[in-house]
Amino acid sequence: MHSKKTLEVILPIFNEKQNLPILIQELDKAKAKLGDRADVRFLFINDGSADGSKEILDALFRARRDIRVVHLVHNFGHAAALACGIENFRGDIAVIMDADLQDSPDALVDMFNAWEKGATTVVAERASRTERTRLFFDLFYKILHKMAPNLPPIKFGTHCLLDASVVTRLRQYTERNRYLPGLVSLASGKIVALPVDRQSRKHGKSQVGVYGLINLAITAIVSFSSRPVRLVSIFGLCASAFSLAFGVCIMGIKVFSSYAIPGWASMMTLSAFGSGVQLLCIGIIGEYVARIYEETKQRPLYLVDEILELSQNQQLKQPRQVA
Ligand code: UDP
Ligand code: MG
Repeated sequence: MHSKKTLEVILPIFNEKQNLPILIQELDKAKAKLGDRADVRFLFINDGSADGSKEILDALFRARRDIRVVHLVHNFGHAAALACGIENFRGDIAVIMDADLQDSPDALVDMFNAWEKGATTVVAERASRTERTRLFFDLFYKILHKMAPNLPPIKFGTHCLLDASVVTRLRQYTERNRYLPGLVSLASGKIVALPVDRQSRKHGKSQVGVYGLINLAITAIVSFSSRPVRLVSIFGLCASAFSLAFGVCIMGIKVFSSYAIPGWASMMTLSAFGSGVQLLCIGIIGEYVARIYEETKQRPLYLVDEILELSQNQQLKQPRQVA
């Protein structure tokens, strides 16, 4: 039997005023279910909320002893907020989940059970999605797993349990373009996948949004695979071979026959198609170049305004950033 371990739940918060009270209720229920088996704590990363979430978190911190809060200077995005949570996590077990109740707080108990049986990484596999974005996700995972065969073919997002040893390894990935499920896969040994139904958002609308999702999908593919660029090269090679053969044919017709080829329209279509493909290829390469540029700038992923934690028995005001 383990001695009582500290389990810290990492929760990124961006304008979740309406979800926070019910989230706390649900988390407390899960905590009660675990009872004496673990010392459950919560680490809230306030990612620049401007809707009163900050005040709710401040009040929570004053009222309870099992909460730590990190206020970021402004909004840095979901991935950066999670990076901050991973960096500031303290304990034996980390659980990462969204605060909008899409990631079921009930899964906490099942994940902990798996950890007790020896698992060091437990992920919530997306069993079903009630969202309209389901088709998008199915297509995304299909492409990602084709392009990045080194990633395990499990459909999971950021909802997971990580043993402290995995968190330590995860901290060594300091890249700016972060696809967390991919990084978790790289930092983990065996991954245990628990089927968990992903719920609909309780209140408010997605903060990440469609554009954010597309951006994340491109980040995932670009940061875990060079295959798209390889495909561009292969395609370029094929197109060159084709035009060479085409040119030879045209010359042959010109030299050996008196037949003038009609078809301005077909030529134009072909050339328009050619330019379209070229632009697409440049775009694909551009995605890589843009990300190289972001990495070379070495900007901090996030900036901390204030950390609220009890151990110091006072509010600390110390800027911290990713190494
Ligand atoms: N979030 C955040 N910063 C952001 C956007 C979102 O910390 O810039 C938090 C948000 O409060 C929620 C989680 O990240 O707890 C997931 O966000 P959201 O529900 O908008 O993403 P989706 O579920 O639509 O992918
Ligand atoms: Mg959500």
